[in-house]
Amino acid sequence: MSTPNVSESLKQFDIVLRTDLSERTSEYADENLAWLDEHGVRAIDILGSVGSGKTSLVIEMVKRLKDRMRIAVIAGDVATRIDAERIEVHGVPVLQIQTGGMCHLDTKLVRTALESMDMDEIDLVLIENVGNLICPGGFPLGAHQRLVVVSVTEGPHMPLKHPVIFNQCQVAVINKIDLADAMEVSVDKLVADTRRVNPKMTVVPTCLRSGEGLDEIIEALGL
Ligand code: MG
Ligand code: ZN
Repeated sequence: MSTPNVSESLKQFDIVLRTDLSERTSEYADENLAWLDEHGVRAIDILGSVGSGKTSLVIEMVKRLKDRMRIAVIAGDVATRIDAERIEVHGVPVLQIQTGGMCHLDTKLVRTALESMDMDEIDLVLIENVGNLICPGGFPLGAHQRLVVVSVTEGPHMPLKHPVIFNQCQVAVINKIDLADAMEVSVDKLVADTRRVNPKMTVVPTCLRSGEGLDEIIEALGL
């Protein structure tokens, strides 16, 4: 079977909506990246559907890393502060962005959040994007790396259904592998599909509940 890429996979549709939104946002993203670099701050954009395990990943990373680097978290959510409250108890500053219904974070929201924090007191910013695997693909935030979390509970087709996101991320986390048998989902197939969509990606099967795979994620991110 040939390797699917984004333009190939678009050919199967009769009508494809295209915009040049990404050109403008990538300019702002470059500005954010330069600004972060000036302040010596590393940023990681964490993408995934609602319930995939983004917040759990942030919490496990914070617990593992907070003694050797100063971490802040930006949590995007359509309506609630639930994630911020879960993360805050681990002793790192959390800035909750309520998007008021908007389904992704954008460069300006993130820049406003970053400017409200003391960048000289921070080494690493973890950005939990809004739970959604569609439009965040068109809105790079200027983070140094993008990581996508999918869980086996989302079914067997996530990498193939979201090639744009998987092509924009450097690390893929296949989470909740302890539930794979119950879901009748093959972790090996999810890993293979991910590699087909983006051969350059580092793919890490995880069970964040037990901590399995966390070391590999941290290594893949170079932290
Ligand atoms: Mg969350
Ligand atoms: Zn959106």
